Amino acid sequence: MINCDLHTHTKYSDDSQELMENHCLKAIESGVSFLCITDHVDCNAIDSGFDFYDVESFFKEFSHLKAKYQGQLTLLAGIEFGEPHIYQTQMEILTKHPYDLILGSVHFWYQDLYASKLVNNPMSIEESYQRYYQELLKVVQDNKVDVVAHFDFPKRYYHKNVIHEELIRTICRTMVENGIVMEINTSSLRRNKTETMPDREILILYKECGGKYVTIGSDAHIAVDLGAGLAYAKNLIKVMELEEVVFINREMVLLSNLK
Ligand SMILES: [Zn+2]
Ligand SMILES: [Zn+2]
Repeated sequence: MINCDLHTHTKYSDDSQELMENHCLKAIESGVSFLCITDHVDCNAIDSGFDFYDVESFFKEFSHLKAKYQGQLTLLAGIEFGEPHIYQTQMEILTKHPYDLILGSVHFWYQDLYASKLVNNPMSIEESYQRYYQELLKVVQDNKVDVVAHFDFPKRYYHKNVIHEELIRTICRTMVENGIVMEINTSSLRRNKTETMPDREILILYKECGGKYVTIGSDAHIAVDLGAGLAYAKNLIKVMELEEVVFINREMVLLSNLK
């Protein structure tokens, strides 16, 4: 069985101090053969990670470790780009670098309030989710990313799921049309939640809209969390009859073709 973790953070993200090499060692130790480092790129001036990412230093270290662990691990280069539809120039400049995978995220969807702050805003949960999904629709319509990270992200902060079905279907259809893949993000399992982002409810809609392919990401900010929840996600993929994929040089590769 091939194990992949395609969403991880290192010291090149403002909210992680982890060394890339520690992730590599944890991956080898725990049987993860494809590891993608996807540090945050945040262009919202309000974000604590604004202007933090250092692409030159990242690739210098990445290239060194990729060569060092070749044969034991396929190390992949990625980024998690926040609101890529808004920061198109930065996106264009950055993606000239030889990335394997670009994750697209929505971390801000109302008045520059981060989700952890937004939950204390009087706005109803329903409206907040609706605004989030409207923003996510713009990301997939803009069509610059390979994978949507944590599709139902507000779930990490609100203690309730809100399914805006028609809007979610429109997003999923656009993803399928544009060849954008769904991530199964397991970080919510480590935050006292019983579901991945997304889980069954949204994956059913994704499938009904023609979606077939998924990636798995732990969103680990420390090496200890690398590969966490992988068994849960693998089982979900099996039960849902979806196909796990990996991205190499920004091309989708089916895991079933690597065996
Ligand atoms: Zn994120
Ligand atoms: Zn992340």
